[in-house]
Amino acid sequence: MKKFTLLFAALLLTAPVVSLADSVAGCASEGDNWWSEERAIMGTEVRVELWHIQQAEACAAIEDVMLELERIEQAMSPFLPTSLLTQLNENAARRPVTVGEELYNLIAHSVEFSAMTDGAFDVTYASAGRFYDYRKKVSPDADALAQVIDAIDYKHLEFNSRKYSIRYLNENVYVDLGGIAKGYAVDRGIEVLISKGFTQAVVAAGGDSRILGDRQGEPWIVGIRDPRKEDTMVAVLPLVDISVSTSGDYERYFERDGVRYHHIIDPDTGDSARDVRSVTILGDQAVMTDALSTSVFVLGTMRGLELINRMKDVDAIVVDGNGVMHVSNSLLEMVATK
Ligand code: AMP
Ligand code: MG
Repeated sequence: MKKFTLLFAALLLTAPVVSLADSVAGCASEGDNWWSEERAIMGTEVRVELWHIQQAEACAAIEDVMLELERIEQAMSPFLPTSLLTQLNENAARRPVTVGEELYNLIAHSVEFSAMTDGAFDVTYASAGRFYDYRKKVSPDADALAQVIDAIDYKHLEFNSRKYSIRYLNENVYVDLGGIAKGYAVDRGIEVLISKGFTQAVVAAGGDSRILGDRQGEPWIVGIRDPRKEDTMVAVLPLVDISVSTSGDYERYFERDGVRYHHIIDPDTGDSARDVRSVTILGDQAVMTDALSTSVFVLGTMRGLELINRMKDVDAIVVDGNGVMHVSNSLLEMVATK
């Protein structure tokens, strides 16, 4: 992967670190014709930053990206009573529900990741996952879990591609796209900018980012935080034209009796996956890096890196349960040749 070799050579250059600064009201200048805005969408902080010589056009484009992400949230949030996903969850155990092409395709794409990851990625995880409340420190007891554990299985989703409808073959199935929808939204946001002719931008939604182009001839510098120390970086990567997703057990969690209950669920147990602390995936599209970061988190260091090493143009950085960092083969080769 020549692209990465060049990027690592650029590590010595100083360039701005991608960071989610404190929310600024509205579209703001970052200097040198860079413009940015942050907004709370899809339960996270969305940040759009782009280069353009004209403020009005730059800010209008950022607004269009925000509107696109808000549109996706309206369709795909499991928390909004009017969303298509909520209609699916409320009715699909009784009858096929027509969800339209976009949601149908994203759920069908999720199932491809399920097959690819031996079921580690499974949007029906929420059949059990919905009974956790990390803010209130609530987890389902063994009896409650036993009643819904069989419902976690992507094979319970029956697809009708002519009608764009989906039916649940088990009455306790509940779907949540939290492991893939932000990446999908980030890709859509970048597509909005590409269609308007922008060539340098970043769209980030929480842990999922996509970088379009470079930063005036220099790479973006992306920091990967230490899962146990917010202000410390375990790696700093110079990147252009790429997507980066991080899944971590520090994002939404509580601790009880020394055990960390967090938001990434092992579909086999309905309990949090605990082999690793964080996973970062690098690849072309954010929908893929998002799904794979969650997948590798569930698979753990060994099986997760095996999967990534089999894939082309995808890399991973895993911080395991002891805080030790592991990287995929092609990243390792690049570091070794430096
Ligand atoms: P991420 O931060 O991208 O890893 O996404 C975490 C989110 O993915 C969680 O908040 C859940 O909404 C969802 N999720 C948790 N476990 C799974 C799983 N095994 N498969 C698919 N999605 C999951
Ligand atoms: Mg993810």
